[in-house]
Amino acid sequence: MRIPFVAGNWKMNTTLDEAVSLVRSMHQRLDVIEGTEKAVCPPFVSIAAISEMLRGSTIGVGAQNMYFEEKGAYTGEISPMMLNKLCKYVIVGHSERRQYFGETNQMVNKKLKAAFKAGLTPIMCVGERLEENEAGKTEEVITDQLFCGLDGITANSGNMVIAYEPVWAIGTGKAATSTQAQTTISLIRKKLSTVLGKATASDMRILYGGSVTAANAGELAAQPDIDGALVGGASLKPQEFVAIVEATAAAKHAQ
Ligand code: PEP
Repeated sequence: MRIPFVAGNWKMNTTLDEAVSLVRSMHQRLDVIEGTEKAVCPPFVSIAAISEMLRGSTIGVGAQNMYFEEKGAYTGEISPMMLNKLCKYVIVGHSERRQYFGETNQMVNKKLKAAFKAGLTPIMCVGERLEENEAGKTEEVITDQLFCGLDGITANSGNMVIAYEPVWAIGTGKAATSTQAQTTISLIRKKLSTVLGKATASDMRILYGGSVTAANAGELAAQPDIDGALVGGASLKPQEFVAIVEATAAAKHAQ
């Protein structure tokens, strides 16, 4: 049985003070939700403070990115060794990193290996762009992202998480339907089984991301292969984020 998981990606939002007050406003209600793992991924500068606030709670903390080298002359970058004492998760290969910062599948692969080495749990994002979707290339794009991204990674990849985030659904208010998301996520699980073996693929959590709200979270999580959500915009609204986690927990509990 895979434990459902909901993570909030705050992206480049919140100052330190705003991050602290966002966590304050949802901490208690999130903490008591059972049967679902949950995490928030604030900007780097707030990770230490938020981790301190959430110490001893059931809410995990993640980073939104990291570089793959351990240390050195990489001005402005953050290494896995800087993160692993502060947080548990790291998002790798988010489509905004791929689109605006030239992150390639090869870089994603290096980041995944570096995250494992540092004991971080990666949340690896994959997903097709609108034009790829319309050209019927979803399977091809995702297979490439998975096969290149996971190259050289063994079946023993711990509790790594995959997030299927169709780029056309991110921040657009146009979420994939639960059927579309289930179809692609079950395909991803099949591909994972080719790379990592059947047992690892069936144990691995695969989240859906892209315009998840309190209104659609339950229906998405009710799908057999969807193990939760990676939430962007709605994770900045405390009531909404709590409601998404509650809806996910309820849908999975009912299965
Ligand atoms: C994301 O950035 O990972 C995301 C899914 O964003 P949104 O929920 O805003 O579509």
